Amino acid sequence: MSTILYPGTFDPVTNGHMDLIVRGRRLFDRVVVGVAAAHHKSGVFFSAEERRAMLEESVRGMDGVEVLSFDGLLVDFARSVGAKAILRGLRAMSDYEFETQMAFMNRRLDEEMEIFFLPADERYTFVNSSLIKEIARLGGDVSSFVPAPVLGRLRKSFGGSRS
Ligand code: ADP
Repeated sequence: MSTILYPGTFDPVTNGHMDLIVRGRRLFDRVVVGVAAAHHKSGVFFSAEERRAMLEESVRGMDGVEVLSFDGLLVDFARSVGAKAILRGLRAMSDYEFETQMAFMNRRLDEEMEIFFLPADERYTFVNSSLIKEIARLGGDVSSFVPAPVLGRLRKSFGGSRS
């Protein structure tokens, strides 16, 4: 059985992330979505537990998709779930620079680990978690950018009947 790990902060999960999970699952028997603790990352709004719960609700019923939290070195976690590869998405050149730097480093740490890049679907190239939170905070409609379980949490956190 082939497994790919899709790691991220998912603060919160968006339809762009969901698209990558679906496409990853078409290529691999099992997709493990890894929710990073992200202690060091500034601007993270939802707790690791909330981010994991939103993902879990969003992938419910998707065969071969699991959601797990992790803390620590990415390649160690990838190995521990039996993943042969790590999945990352590329939206723009700005992603490319950071993502290739990470990929080179992770390959140094474990030279058998492959890094898979999938280009974002053109419908979601501009969708990112920070923008979603900002729009929700200002009372804008984000319903076409996030899965339904996230919409509920955003409403609870930021209020507003228009979102
Ligand atoms: P991280 O903090 O690890 O970058 P993110 O949750 O921001 O966590 O992103 C996780 C992965 O998903 C990254 O590889 C990112 O490029 C990718 N990604 C984020 N948004 C999208 C999107 N709209 N379409 C495709 N890939 C995306």
